[in-house]
Amino acid sequence: MNYSFELPPRSTKLDALREEVREFLIKNLSSIPMHMRARSWHGFDAEFSRKVAERGWVGMTWPKKYGGQERTMLERYVVLEEMVAAGAPVNAHWTGDRQSGQLLLRYGTDHQKESILPKVARGEIFFCIGMSEPDAGSDLANIRTRATRAPGGWIVNGTKIWTSGAHQKHYMIMLARTRPPEDDRHAGMSQFMVDLGLPGIAVRPIRNMAGELHFNEVVFTDCFLPDDCLVGTEGDGWKQVMSELSFERSGPERFLTAQILLRELVRIAGQQPGDEVSAAIGSLVAHLATLRRMSFAVASALQDKREVGTIASIVKDLGSVFEQSIPDIARQVLSLEQLQDEEFQDVFRYTMLASPSFSIYGGTREILRSIIGKSLQAA
Ligand SMILES: Cc1cc2nc3c(=O)[nH]c(=O)nc-3n(C[C@H](O)[C@H](O)[C@H](O)COP(=O)(O)OP(=O)(O)OC[C@H]3O[C@@H](n4cnc5c(N)ncnc54)[C@H](O)[C@@H]3O)c2cc1C
Repeated sequence: MNYSFELPPRSTKLDALREEVREFLIKNLSSIPMHMRARSWHGFDAEFSRKVAERGWVGMTWPKKYGGQERTMLERYVVLEEMVAAGAPVNAHWTGDRQSGQLLLRYGTDHQKESILPKVARGEIFFCIGMSEPDAGSDLANIRTRATRAPGGWIVNGTKIWTSGAHQKHYMIMLARTRPPEDDRHAGMSQFMVDLGLPGIAVRPIRNMAGELHFNEVVFTDCFLPDDCLVGTEGDGWKQVMSELSFERSGPERFLTAQILLRELVRIAGQQPGDEVSAAIGSLVAHLATLRRMSFAVASALQDKREVGTIASIVKDLGSVFEQSIPDIARQVLSLEQLQDEEFQDVFRYTMLASPSFSIYGGTREILRSIIGKSLQAA
């Protein structure tokens, strides 16, 4: 197992792409205030996602025959990094681009790929992820949602919870039991591509601590899924989910979620910050630079088709510690007068309330550390 974070050589092609994305963002984000940008990759704006797709920046690594651009993971990384750093509202297309599309490319049937991926790449279809359940979060193998064989398909019953964006997205990649648990708890699960408009599906938004409707409870009651909704092989759901999580854990969104607050901190600190503020900003930027290198190295490993499960978990864990530290540090080093700035307060309030979730979604801190620990022990 290779745990090194090797960087690819610097490329002028990537620099040129970065400039292109920055120009696009300057043009398209100018009317979005900082407190909205603070939502960053959780900000939903279907129109903005369509504009990103028009530039060929959704599904950009996918084959051209499925609507992609056949560009590299590193080019994709540059686009994502610039989008999140600027606080672009990318949530609508994020999950489809990051993991559902990759999953379908790897395990989907020709029909699934041909009928769905081009629409995802055009920003017409948005995906969400239905893994967690009321008694199955960290212990995902405990899911109770059942898909039972029926003529021509499957009947689904069960409840998913914390499903980000289910009220705004068109499709869900849903994990269900297709066989009862055996000695091997990871056996007997399967993934399905579910059109959320089908009968038998109730989507109920749950208000979060910041007062927003972001995630949902999704209840399946005798919902019929035709045969061609099965993704991959029946019973291989666990293996498929694990491969998907590497894409979920390593991207720039894992350390840039509070980036707008960091930018606001720099703005408020002004041209002549005192020693304490300078030291705090210096320390945060040094951490940021290191995380960025590590995350870029994971993108490079993905490009080379290397196994990234452990290094992606390391980036996600360190990244969430970093993101969560920003509101606290800002509060400690700024003066009362500086904290009164209205724009700063709006960004601060949102980031403070959202920050506990940074180390929960995508795998909790304890779970990631357990994965890292076990893998180091085995090495
Ligand atoms: C903002 C947000 C968005 C989300 N979006 C989605 C989504 O789109 N789709 C989806 O499927 N899920 C989503 N989730 C759910 C998320 O994946 C789960 O919340 C997470 O996996 C933890 O599961 P849980 O909430 O059931 O907590 P639990 O698993 O019950 O954990 C509670 C606490 O116990 C600790 N713990 C649990 N097991 C162990 C162990 N073995 N060793 C040590 N400590 C342990 C955990 O680390 C945690 O601190 C989202 C969550 C949030 C906060």
